[in-house]
Amino acid sequence: MNSEEIQLVKEILSTPKKIVITPHKNPDGDAIGSVLALWHYLNMQGHLAQVIVPNDFPKFLKWMPGVENILIFEKKHEHSLGFIEEADIIFTLDFNDLSRIGEMQSSFEAAKADFIMIDHHQAPNSYARIKYSDISMSSTCEMVYNFIEYLGDRDKISSEMANCLYAGILTDTGSFKYASTTGKTHRVVATLIDKGAHSTEIHKNIFDTNTASRLHLLGCALKNMVILTELSTAYITLSQEELDTHQFKKGDTEGFVNYGLTLDGIRFAVIFIENKEEGIIKISFRSEGSFSVNEFARKYFDGGGHTNAAGGKSTKSMEDTVQYFRSLLEDHKTELLA
Ligand code: 5GP
Ligand code: MN
Repeated sequence: MNSEEIQLVKEILSTPKKIVITPHKNPDGDAIGSVLALWHYLNMQGHLAQVIVPNDFPKFLKWMPGVENILIFEKKHEHSLGFIEEADIIFTLDFNDLSRIGEMQSSFEAAKADFIMIDHHQAPNSYARIKYSDISMSSTCEMVYNFIEYLGDRDKISSEMANCLYAGILTDTGSFKYASTTGKTHRVVATLIDKGAHSTEIHKNIFDTNTASRLHLLGCALKNMVILTELSTAYITLSQEELDTHQFKKGDTEGFVNYGLTLDGIRFAVIFIENKEEGIIKISFRSEGSFSVNEFARKYFDGGGHTNAAGGKSTKSMEDTVQYFRSLLEDHKTELLA
């Protein structure tokens, strides 16, 4: 944010406001961590803030301080609409296009509020009055930390906020290993620990929550993996039937897509997950190096994200989706092997 924008935010927040804070649909650790940290901060400053998420999120995120105050739009429709209509300000976190909030989109488009975007994805849309968008950032949580710092309030970061921010940085950097993790990221994380983030406990809460059915689902996914060595690509499919057999719960497939990249020579990994209820195949893309999965997802699968991690969807059947995907690979062979 430049100094004018910082000044404007300071002015806007100088009197108590009614505020809604929302992350993208199917919120992940960075999404939930960032909205909760900002919620703690704004309420502490005397505002009336409410977090509204489009739909439910995995159990391994439900330990975060303040999580019990989150409204789930899909479940509390009318109640949520009241907050959105009344809001003076709407913060949108960890996404940059209103199509990313699913059923909430029309209520946001009709809202009288000013929008403030804090996000690190590519190609931001222009709905926000204030746009803090930076694709070089590890996570939206690191940006919320910066945002609070810009407002001169780093000293006000509480242990609740520190735990939420740590969780988001941890998950969005793949435990501090992705290329977006900078020296600054580590300095922020160090400060968060000093301010009360319980790193060992957070790692445990997020990563040591396996169930037998999830491990068996992972086994099924790995068995289904197709490895195309000559295209540096590996992909996994999971049908609705396979998910049902393994008592699939939200979040169970988190991280499965990354296994493909652990193979020597594989630079492009994909997982296709059937969702019969929504009538779509949800797709996650990951890459190593210069092949942009953001562009790939955007061009062919109605999606987007970052250069090395993106998502998208298909309304075709699993078989047709995979066939279409495979037909695209030849066209990208040079980039994949570069
Ligand atoms: P994941 O594969 O973990 O769901 O998402 C990877 C990255 O891509 C995340 O940053 C996520 O926000 C983004 N992403 C996932 N699905 C979609 C989608 O359908 N559209 C867009 N624009 N981004 C997505
Ligand atoms: Mn993020």
